[in-house]
Amino acid sequence: MNKTIKILILDDNVSDAELMKRRLRKDGLDFISLAVQDEQAYIDALKEFSPHIILSDYSLPHFDGLAALNLARKIFPDIPFIIVSGAIGEEFAVEILKAGATDYVLKDRLSRLKPAITRAWEESKTLREKKRAEKLLEHTAKKYSAMLERIQSGYWLLDLQGNLLEVNNAYCKMSGYTSRELLKMKITDLECSENTREVFDHIKLIRQKGSDQFESRHRRKDGSVFDVEIYSAFLDVDEERIAVLLRDITARKEYESSLKQLADDLKRSNKDLEQFAYIASHDLREPLRAVSGFVGLLSQKYKDKLDRQAMEYIDFASKSVIRMDELLSGLLEYSRVHTGSRIVTIVSAQDALNAAIANLHRSIGESKAVITSDKLPDVRFDEKQLTHIFQNLLHNAIKFKSERDLQVHIGCEQQNDGWLFSVKDNGIGIEKPSYDRIFKIFQRIQPLDKYPGHGIGLSICKKIIERHSGKIWVESVPGVGSTFFFTIPHLA
Ligand code: ADP
Repeated sequence: MNKTIKILILDDNVSDAELMKRRLRKDGLDFISLAVQDEQAYIDALKEFSPHIILSDYSLPHFDGLAALNLARKIFPDIPFIIVSGAIGEEFAVEILKAGATDYVLKDRLSRLKPAITRAWEESKTLREKKRAEKLLEHTAKKYSAMLERIQSGYWLLDLQGNLLEVNNAYCKMSGYTSRELLKMKITDLECSENTREVFDHIKLIRQKGSDQFESRHRRKDGSVFDVEIYSAFLDVDEERIAVLLRDITARKEYESSLKQLADDLKRSNKDLEQFAYIASHDLREPLRAVSGFVGLLSQKYKDKLDRQAMEYIDFASKSVIRMDELLSGLLEYSRVHTGSRIVTIVSAQDALNAAIANLHRSIGESKAVITSDKLPDVRFDEKQLTHIFQNLLHNAIKFKSERDLQVHIGCEQQNDGWLFSVKDNGIGIEKPSYDRIFKIFQRIQPLDKYPGHGIGLSICKKIIERHSGKIWVESVPGVGSTFFFTIPHLA
């Protein structure tokens, strides 16, 4: 015992009370005490002294031990109450104990007092601790059930046979069943899975793994079906149980499937469009060739019969036919990026650049361009298409050169998820509002007579790079030069 016990002694005989104290002190009990002789002093002491233990004589003038016991119980329901009295019969002793006294000790056997107090004190301590633990448990259980009732997610407690032992309000709302109905049901009554074995195999798996997260479908009381996301945890406290949290994800699933539908539609319509571009450009060249042939015939056969103006018209017509033919072959090339085959392997970007430079050696020579480059890495790409990109960008740098000597630098730096390439020139540059436009098919900003072209090269580069999960963009200062950037992710 590590605490000084506070003992309240109720005895009209002051010397008896003194005897008790002396005896206890002699027996080595660590205590402080207050002795009272009548009812009023006793009531006051209960309130002010707050005793741990009460020792009470049985018969007192105008008062008695049982009345004292009842008064004490009202204020301190668990306080040990020991009757210390002169000789009492066995029957009476039983009556006292029945009435709620903790023990009784005869005044002529005071050697029993200390053991009786010690035992009563220990017992009351145990009782208090038990009560505190029970209160804590009750509090925790209340918190736990309030939480389960208030959360938006559904909750189940299952046994390993799949019987529902607990459910919360949220799941009742989700399923349309009352908790009373659910508590008579098994998991297989709610799961849409036809296969009961599968459900029980899953329970076994959760038991082994400790927890699991998965998606499933449940059937409501009205027969309709809803998607649920399930978090389950195996509990092995007293018995083996599975706690389950369930979230209705029907709305999310519907959204996902509409997104997928949209993506599929988009894919299909893109494919149709590409098919259309391919067929149109391919088939239109046929009649165009006929027009070109007849215009040629017209100018040859009727050269002498037509005046200068008619010959000029014929010349315009044949130039337009040539341009139309070039545009159609550009369109065909553009649509081939998708319809053609693509072989993605590990390729040397350095080799691809060297091939592009070799293909352009004449125009590089004519423009006296100085081309430098960083050491380029190996990347996952279609080799021919990578050469095509470098060739297109270099070709543009040459075409859109300024009065200055042309310098082009091909750079490369590693990023977290891939490579960043750049092709930088000191040409005429591009105004900011045109940055996006130039990557669209047939979009050009320079006049055709000064800078011939079809506005297809960059749109093809963009398509190829995006097919390899990369991006292309430009940064430029008009009159100073442009830098075209493109990325190649490691997983291209
Ligand atoms: P094209 O060169 O046949 O016109 P592109 O698609 O290759 O077609 O380029 C589209 C437009 O982007 C060009 O007409 C030009 O205005 C601009 N452009 C492309 N590269 C450069 C460059 N290096 N410097 C300045 N302008 C450029």
